[in-house]
Amino acid sequence: MTESVNIDIPVNFDSLGLAPELLKALTESGYTTPTPIQSQAIPVALAGGDLMAGAQTGTGKTAAFALPLLQKLLPLASSSASPAKHPIRALILTPTRELAIQVEESIKAYAKHTPLRSLVVYGGVDIKTQTPQLKTGIEVLVATPGRLLDHIEQKTLQLNQVQVLVLDEADRMLDMGFMPDLKRILALLPKQRQTLMFSATFSNEIKKLADDFLVKPQLIEVARSNATNDNVTQKVYQVEQSNKEALLMQILKEADAKQVIVFTKTKITASRLSRSLERTGIAADAIHGDKTQQERIKALDAFKAGSVTALIATDVAARGLDITDLPMVINYEIPSAPEDYVHRIGRTGRAGASGIAISFVSSDEEKYLLEIEKLIKRQIPKETVEIVRPSTKTSTAKPKKSAGDDASTSHTTKRVSHKKKSADPWFDQPYEPNLQKTTANSRASLSTNKAPVAALLGGLKS
Ligand code: AMP
Repeated sequence: MTESVNIDIPVNFDSLGLAPELLKALTESGYTTPTPIQSQAIPVALAGGDLMAGAQTGTGKTAAFALPLLQKLLPLASSSASPAKHPIRALILTPTRELAIQVEESIKAYAKHTPLRSLVVYGGVDIKTQTPQLKTGIEVLVATPGRLLDHIEQKTLQLNQVQVLVLDEADRMLDMGFMPDLKRILALLPKQRQTLMFSATFSNEIKKLADDFLVKPQLIEVARSNATNDNVTQKVYQVEQSNKEALLMQILKEADAKQVIVFTKTKITASRLSRSLERTGIAADAIHGDKTQQERIKALDAFKAGSVTALIATDVAARGLDITDLPMVINYEIPSAPEDYVHRIGRTGRAGASGIAISFVSSDEEKYLLEIEKLIKRQIPKETVEIVRPSTKTSTAKPKKSAGDDASTSHTTKRVSHKKKSADPWFDQPYEPNLQKTTANSRASLSTNKAPVAALLGGLKS
């Protein structure tokens, strides 16, 4: 990989040389100052070269590629109704439907004072609904790879006039096995084009992808690759799997949390947890690969609107979610792939806001935690959580000192009452046999016994 470039950071968008139509839209979006990735990527992309940018989610990377791309297409923009005047000139590929939708929403916002047209196409919805809009002609197409190939096969679009290709969240596209699809798509694009690649993490596979598809790319990194955002306070709670659900409920209630994403490793845990939370009066919903596109959009909209407090998500489903000012992310189970940790906690602390990322780590998961700490090159402060069953004895989560503990480490005692098994057989599935379900009756004792939230989260402020 080549050296990162260091460019003096302009203090405002005007100094980047963007067109007045774009500047007007930025002002209306409330942007006053370019983010570091925008300051660095926009001049390079405007100069016409290929770009390989390392930028985490929430850094403003969408505008970093969207603005130069729109600027490049502006001279070709036409107000004619003829579809022939609106060929696809820019193609943006994203790994997930949600990210595709969000990117296209941003493009629309930035292009609102130009005649440039954009469209998003993704799988999970009837392909026929996307065809009429394609036929009217659009300059900027945002697509997930599989659906784009479907359209290519059905000859509902042509890519022979594409001048700019963006590979957004390229690392995730590779993780999701899109390499063969990408190869097929790239073979159909004109050789003479500009390619902008964005990736939160840089692996050897990503470097190989850049070697294959980019020409002498300029490398830009706004933060060390695989680094975590300094705005995010990270914390590990050492807790056995069987006590995680009780701990989660306690945190959500005590923190009076308004918007939390809870990550699980599996779809079944996501669904089960969502239902358990709902049963204890916490508005929750799950998004994962088994949900239809409509269900995922509905859940995300409800979460954004504030009617859902806890969104339980698997890694794939959560990828690319843009929820600004999300205060808290909880890793109910930490990921076995350490890069996923970086992606997950990138959901909070976005665009300069501060955030909290709590990870529940059982003894079985400690090996994954070590991998994560190796990747992010820092130790995450640890706190042992003891869940005390009031009627009987202390549960299996015993306090223990950890090598990674720092001076601020404290032990927090949580009290959660026992209840008999739920009448709903769904809750008695043998997924976590030790877990005692909290029911409506036990909510009363939860609230009387709850430890102050400051005790739980206070240790987070380092
Ligand atoms: P992104 O990393 O592109 O997903 O952007 C993260 C969030 O930051 C989005 O909600 C953007 O609308 C917002 N954003 C991007 N650039 C700026 C900027 N220069 N000033 C303020 N907010 C921004």
